[in-house]
Amino acid sequence: MKINLLLLNFCLLAVLFITDASAQQKKPRIGIAGIQIENSVFMPNRQAITGRTPSLPAYLSKDSVMGQSVIWLPSLIGGGSGRGPVTRESFEAFVNSALEIIRSNMPYDAFWFYNHGACSVDGVDDPEGEFMERVRAVIGNDALVTTTMDLHGNVSWRVALYSDLITTYRKAPHDDAVESHRRGVVNLLERLSSGKGRPAYKAWVAVPVLLSGEWTSTRVEPAKSLYAMVPEVESLPGVVDAGIWIGYVWGDERRNQGVVMVVGDNKGQVESGAKKLAQRFWDVRRQFSLEAPGYPLEKCIDLAVASNKRPFLISDMGDNPGGG
Ligand SMILES: [Zn+2]
Repeated sequence: MKINLLLLNFCLLAVLFITDASAQQKKPRIGIAGIQIENSVFMPNRQAITGRTPSLPAYLSKDSVMGQSVIWLPSLIGGGSGRGPVTRESFEAFVNSALEIIRSNMPYDAFWFYNHGACSVDGVDDPEGEFMERVRAVIGNDALVTTTMDLHGNVSWRVALYSDLITTYRKAPHDDAVESHRRGVVNLLERLSSGKGRPAYKAWVAVPVLLSGEWTSTRVEPAKSLYAMVPEVESLPGVVDAGIWIGYVWGDERRNQGVVMVVGDNKGQVESGAKKLAQRFWDVRRQFSLEAPGYPLEKCIDLAVASNKRPFLISDMGDNPGGG
């Protein structure tokens, strides 16, 4: 009897072990990498980009549903501080370090690029696009890729090409940052678990407009109404996600411009949704203006000295000095 019980216990343990191992095997393997830096090319100094292992957001914590349903494989997120462009040497070192970790965690079912989109590197036209291209060369084209970004980032043709799903913030100031990154991850997991995989269509429309953040707050018109159209397009049947990128004026690079992207499975809805957003962006381009009165620095200081208001705030046009 004792031997039988022991045998039963052993069998139960073996079954539990096998069940746990097969559950682990079924979990998709998703890598994470990105570049979270925006820098001004108008600053004379240079800076290094440094990679750090990202900690997962709360919605992917170990006790969350999304955290438990996936084997998350973070590599490196490149960061720096607001100032001048990144040096080519530090960019190469960062990319090579990230690729080494990415290779060591192979294979992948999917990949999440957590990018800002406004990194400038000496001698590199499109740092995020180049990084994504080099990661894709390692992980292969079968891995489903989602890219989540800041709306002040730039979506180059290469960034669009290497993203199967892509999204961005819909508010500036970015009250919806967490929600937006989460949306990109939720859509990725839904496409994986449903077996739908890569959306059949993606539309990329460049809007040749480049405005600073101070001109494009979504709390005021015309950005308020423009961005209110994004969820409308997203809700069209056959559309998975939609986004409008303002771009980054302090980068002064060829890829920096307004962009609209829509992804989905219905060709007509994806096309017409993207055209609708891009056309509105273009139509209202001359209506953007500074939220507060804007003057040269000397006049601002004269006004501050003469004013009775305390404190009297003067904001640098570059969002923050040096941008980023
Ligand atoms: Zn931003």
